[in-house]
Amino acid sequence: MTRTALAFLLASLAQLGQPKDSAAPPQISLIPLGTGKGATAVYDGEPSSSFVIKVDGECRLLVDPGLGASQKAIKTCGAVPKAVFVSHNHSDHAGELPVLLIVERTAGRKLRVLSGPEVQQRLITHRIAELYSTGLQAPDIADWVPAPEGQSVKVDDELSIVAYKGKHSEVSYGFVLSYRESPVLGFSGDSGYDREFYQKLGSAPTLVLDARKESTPEHAGFDEVKAFEATTRSRVYVAHYGKAADAPPKSAPLIPGQAIPLGGPQTKGRP
Ligand SMILES: [Zn+2]
Ligand SMILES: [Zn+2]
Repeated sequence: MTRTALAFLLASLAQLGQPKDSAAPPQISLIPLGTGKGATAVYDGEPSSSFVIKVDGECRLLVDPGLGASQKAIKTCGAVPKAVFVSHNHSDHAGELPVLLIVERTAGRKLRVLSGPEVQQRLITHRIAELYSTGLQAPDIADWVPAPEGQSVKVDDELSIVAYKGKHSEVSYGFVLSYRESPVLGFSGDSGYDREFYQKLGSAPTLVLDARKESTPEHAGFDEVKAFEATTRSRVYVAHYGKAADAPPKSAPLIPGQAIPLGGPQTKGRP
């Protein structure tokens, strides 16, 4: 063996057993599970608006386990992510939470449920009331983690969220998601147009905003989101628009199954 070959072999051996290159940037992505509105799952059989966050191939966070979303999450991730964020207690965002919590808990996995404090109270009092006949209490069923507005709360060792309240009849929160304290995603939950709210979310390079063709106090309109897009450096995607045919014509829609890379510089270039 030549000296060079020996040096190479020794260097290769030294690398074995080393921890993964910590300088390698993590692969963080958002995978949309559905874009359905309130009645879409029930009447059309397509999942409600929901997505998962993957880090280096592992699903870390399920956002909004609404009607029709969980099966997509399980197919996409191979299992239910350990952490779940619930924006608010409407069925298209929280409808499958009781089944997920009790099945996972029975399998020995208590899920971590993050939500705004008022939302959490409503989930515990109303949404999961059907589980109390088992004799279990809320703290037995899940790890409930309130996310007060403006405060950083851990999803896991690397991901954290800061929740912000949107404009919706049922109290609803969006968030800024960070990876190791760097914002990667702003999410509105369900909300009417609110520029200040969007600007808070806009500390992240990618935004997912709720919008419909027509603006209402409950949901922003496509035109309002389009106008906001012109004022932000963040990339904007529209969620919760309904079925594929209802997608916004002038903004980028979330498309179920189509992964969006997160992180990286704040730029409008589509990744
Ligand atoms: Zn909704
Ligand atoms: Zn809603």
